[in-house]
Amino acid sequence: MSEKIQKKTIEYYKQGSLYTYVSACNKYMKQAKQVAIEESLTPIFPIGVVIVKNGEIVARGANGNGYHEKNLNSKFHKKGCKRRYISQKLLEQGKTKLKSGEGFELCPGCNYDCHAEVKAIDKLKDKSILKGSTLYMYGHWWSCAECWKKMNTVGIKEVYVVATFKEKKNLIKWRKEFNKIDSI
Ligand SMILES: [Zn+2]
Ligand SMILES: [Zn+2]
Repeated sequence: MSEKIQKKTIEYYKQGSLYTYVSACNKYMKQAKQVAIEESLTPIFPIGVVIVKNGEIVARGANGNGYHEKNLNSKFHKKGCKRRYISQKLLEQGKTKLKSGEGFELCPGCNYDCHAEVKAIDKLKDKSILKGSTLYMYGHWWSCAECWKKMNTVGIKEVYVVATFKEKKNLIKWRKEFNKIDSI
């Protein structure tokens, strides 16, 4: 069966960023899912990536560093997160709350160094192999500005995502989508 590959330009944090949509059944996407399940430190929202060069997986990584999970009951945090807390305060003060993808640096659990893309890249001592590679991400459908910067620096030329995650606005729907591949 031929796989539907659709190139799509998404204006998300980096205008003109090019994502390629692939099916969740893509063999590398299945591996990315496996990495999410096995390695994510954010069990509520696992995201996994594999980076492929010449058909071989050369790096893998999953999101999280346990910060949110450790700080669930901490002061000045909302659900373990400093950023969500700050965002809520802004809203209470009648200001605009933080937008999706904004202010990750405000919280150690949100910071880009624990995003799956960066974790995969940082695992490699010699990053020269990443030049011209492709990144597959399962569980999410866009990358933040900092991850894009890093991916561009090391020469990752394409980012593949599963488009259907985009429509899953809440965690329950997202989880169903995450598990769907098992029934195919
Ligand atoms: Zn956070
Ligand atoms: Zn990121």
